[in-house]
Amino acid sequence: MVVVLEHNIKNKDKQYVRQFIEKHGLKVQEIVGEEETIFGVVGNVALDSREVEILPGVNRVIPISSPYKLASREFKKEDTLITVGPVKIGGSRIVVIAGPCAVESREQILETAHIVKESGAVILRGGAYKPRSSPYAFQGLGEKGLKYLKEASIKTGMPTISEVMSAETIDLVKEYVDILQIGTRNMYNFDLLKRVGAAGKTVMLKRGLSATIQEFLMSAEYLLAHGAHNIILCERGIRTFETYTRNTLDISAIPIVKKLSHLPIFVDPSHATGIRNKVLPMALAAIAAGAHGISVEVHPTPEKALSDGPQSLYPEQFEKLMRDVEALAPVLEKEIARLPKSDSVTISGKQTRAPKLKGKKRVAFQGERGSFSEKAIILYFEEDVDTLACQEFREVFNAVLAGDAHYGMIPLENSLSGSIHENYDLLLQFPDIQIVGEKKIRIVHNLIGLPEATLDSIKRVYSHPQGLAQCSHFLEEHPTWEKISFYDTAGSVAHIAEMGKTDSAAIASIEAAKFNKLKVLKEGIETNPQNYTRFVIITREENARIENPTKASLVFSTMDEPGALFQALKVLANKKLNMKKLESRPIPGKPWEYMFYIDVEIPLEITLFKNVLDELKAYTENLRLLGMYRI
Ligand code: PEP
Ligand code: MN
Repeated sequence: MVVVLEHNIKNKDKQYVRQFIEKHGLKVQEIVGEEETIFGVVGNVALDSREVEILPGVNRVIPISSPYKLASREFKKEDTLITVGPVKIGGSRIVVIAGPCAVESREQILETAHIVKESGAVILRGGAYKPRSSPYAFQGLGEKGLKYLKEASIKTGMPTISEVMSAETIDLVKEYVDILQIGTRNMYNFDLLKRVGAAGKTVMLKRGLSATIQEFLMSAEYLLAHGAHNIILCERGIRTFETYTRNTLDISAIPIVKKLSHLPIFVDPSHATGIRNKVLPMALAAIAAGAHGISVEVHPTPEKALSDGPQSLYPEQFEKLMRDVEALAPVLEKEIARLPKSDSVTISGKQTRAPKLKGKKRVAFQGERGSFSEKAIILYFEEDVDTLACQEFREVFNAVLAGDAHYGMIPLENSLSGSIHENYDLLLQFPDIQIVGEKKIRIVHNLIGLPEATLDSIKRVYSHPQGLAQCSHFLEEHPTWEKISFYDTAGSVAHIAEMGKTDSAAIASIEAAKFNKLKVLKEGIETNPQNYTRFVIITREENARIENPTKASLVFSTMDEPGALFQALKVLANKKLNMKKLESRPIPGKPWEYMFYIDVEIPLEITLFKNVLDELKAYTENLRLLGMYRI
């Protein structure tokens, strides 16, 4: 059963509830979740739930109907999030594990590590103890293999995963790798599961060759019951009558497992198919079906591989797979997990990576040079920074996540035209990105032309539709001018510079005129001078530490019931927190349900704000702090 505790339960009451349950011969596992603190109760003894429900500090008791308890969704509502070094697993992230089937030599694993990292993998795989069908086949390099894997991890910054086949080698494998893998053949090895569970490491549990989903989750239960918290499930194909593929990939297991369990579920399309050219479509299918990640075998020269060559991808195939995953992620509104940029990696004496981002800060923005976003960057940073122009807002997020830029500058709202919804949605889709600052700038539009142009020579005007709309009074004074929409204000300036015609002008910032060496024909032509855009500065979560923040941005959804939003806002009101903005956005895939974005002032006493966040969890769903910053 699950015992949900009151939000503000006293420590002594909590102790009493625990002792009461343990006295009955049951085991208690405390889980402090995002939304509530619960006791998971497991054991072979019947205890009347009403006896627990009446104890002080107990909110409610939920019996768990499934045979697996700790692994079940009933036990824990929210997805389990796992952190392995710089990589976060679970929720809306897509995590790619790649590497050879087995570590074959120092050179092979270093080279593969470099290849898969370059293409975007974030965790390196490689077996050192191989479960082979034939006793005469290559069995793995053992500890030597683990050492090479560790070296590759240090050189690339990628955490690693490797299989542990027997209880005797747990301590050894654990010393070298970040994730212990239980292979398909050992899914039923309950003794091994108990011992691995107690090892305190993240575990990837592969589905048994002929295991039902229930049996699969029961094995996860073994790990959880023996102390493991961080478990990744991995569907890797099951045995069926079909012989064309090595196994039959059970794609439907993904949505089923996601419904039954809170644990992240990965897919291994390599062992599932056994055929190289089936790996890509199955990997994409798995991700489309909702997998939190994939584990793929890649080898620099698969034809020379000591094991599983026929299913190992060539480096180019893996690169293509990553590009396709990248194209798929936005459709699913997911973030592809990326490693932060690290030091240059030298393999076989060759410099193989772009140099680390050092010294000058680099800030990504959407648009062309001279755009209002770039102006916001210059005004915010008050120092010499490099800028990185991106075509789309999503590219800004990706550049920051991948470490190609330290920061991103994105507009969130304009005082005249309202919110830039795309960026609100992206903030939600990129859970590893945080807001760390804000800049409001006044939008002054100018008519810009070639140095030889005059107001009289102009016949057509280019700009972003918003630029044209915001200068409507000025344009009405020139009714004969043709108005041409362009994707970007600064881009329209670059366009007329390129055309070189004195009859064409653009509407944009002075900076865009300067950048393109053009002339301002008329300054300040916007109809309403009260035209401001609010930008926020984003960065990777681990770099987002701001001292004495004064403002926070949050997002959450609520239950679909009367007064739900009111109850949440009341928490802020009761603590006298000043709300600066409230915006609702439809939840993708759930018509007529909404996420609420809130900006709120942080009081001087920051713990007060943290308490408010805790309290809010009781009245909201999917609460996320998008950032705390100074204004
Ligand atoms: C592996 O991933 O190295 C492996 C042997 O996979 P499985 O246990 O799924 O066959
Ligand atoms: Mn293999």
